Amino acid sequence: MKGICILGATGSIGVSTLDVVARHSHLYKVIALTANTNIDALYEQCLEHHPEFVVVVDKSKALVFEEKIKKSSIADIKVLSGAKALEQVATLDNVDSVMAAIVGAAGLLPSLAAAKAGKTILLANKEALVMSGSIFMQAVSDSGAQLLPIDSEHNAIFQCMPAGYKTGMQAKEARRILLTASGGPFRETPVEQLVNVTPDQAVAHPNWDMGRKISVDSATMMNKGLEMIEACILFNMTPDQIQVVIHPQSVIHSMVDYVDGTVLAQMGNPDMRIPIAYSMAWPKRFDSGVEPLNIFDVGRMDFQEPDLERFPCLRLAYEAIAAGGIMPTILNAANEIAVEAFLNETVRFTDIPVIIEGCMKQFGLKSADTLEIILEADQQARQVSLNIIAELNH
Ligand code: NAD
Ligand code: MG
Repeated sequence: MKGICILGATGSIGVSTLDVVARHSHLYKVIALTANTNIDALYEQCLEHHPEFVVVVDKSKALVFEEKIKKSSIADIKVLSGAKALEQVATLDNVDSVMAAIVGAAGLLPSLAAAKAGKTILLANKEALVMSGSIFMQAVSDSGAQLLPIDSEHNAIFQCMPAGYKTGMQAKEARRILLTASGGPFRETPVEQLVNVTPDQAVAHPNWDMGRKISVDSATMMNKGLEMIEACILFNMTPDQIQVVIHPQSVIHSMVDYVDGTVLAQMGNPDMRIPIAYSMAWPKRFDSGVEPLNIFDVGRMDFQEPDLERFPCLRLAYEAIAAGGIMPTILNAANEIAVEAFLNETVRFTDIPVIIEGCMKQFGLKSADTLEIILEADQQARQVSLNIIAELNH
């Protein structure tokens, strides 16, 4: 029986993880669940999964939640609050696996704490890895932690790697990764119409049902930019070894190209329970609850090169990783601020890359050797991005 802590339990990935856990309750016991503010969803999850601990990051919501728990049949659940408590539950002795499914930079410290504590990390929170890169991978190897990618593309790549492969290793016989992308909802929208797209249009992804931030990232293709950086870090490859491929059907979740000309692909229905179940059962497999792929319904598969004019965010991600050091952190922070502003309707869709590029230009090259440098760069980039937004709206 393994103990699992789910960071970001109320989100899209968190909910899918609990669905898989419920199918395998003889193998997994929920030790801790965390949420930022959504205490209603968290309460329902507590009734069903009865964790030992919950964290509600928002302090006033945590008080309300605690009162509700005290009066319930699950009054023995311990309620913690504040960001520090995320690190506490991610490193509990009886936690074996940590699902890192908080969105954005907020997930960095608890994910890193899990890495340092030698846990099995099921990593959905790509922003944490993009920010901390080699520091994160070093923590994993120092502690002997196991890092398993949940992002569907990286999970696919991991599945296509040679037997015995561990993340961070260089698989010499694998010469290239083909990183697939759906192209999002605006793959064929005339470029001049992008200025008018609304948040609701941007989050309506054609193939995947996801949180709002990653859905906007998919529409701008910043998601693929972050994933390209994520792939470089996880699989110890250079950016020129990663080819982004637009594949609108989202049936192939990525491919590995070997020196002998073999290309291995992983396929399946677009449902995150597949990579979640794979990582939870690893190195075995078990049922994910996902319907078998009907290849006849798929019928055909298309592949196109991405258009960097249409998707400037992807170009910016390539520029950020080429610059190295703190630049991926700057890219990520600026993107988080720009996407939030777009979702709040204070900037336009086409302003997102303008804000990110403007922010990146204000930072020089600087190595990202310590966590302090990274966290400082993250904070500065957020402020710079807010200033750029204020100027845009002037
Ligand atoms: P979501 O918005 O649905 O859920 C986010 C979760 O994080 C929620 O539980 C929320 O309470 C928590 N959270 C938000 N801000 C927080 C904060 N400041 N402090 C603590 N907790 C906070 O997001 P999601 O779609 O589930 O995505 C989660 C992560 O997984 C992201 O990094 C995303 O890129 C990655 N991912 C998601 C999918 C997907 O299909 N949804 C696929 C691949 C990767
Ligand atoms: Mg992905």
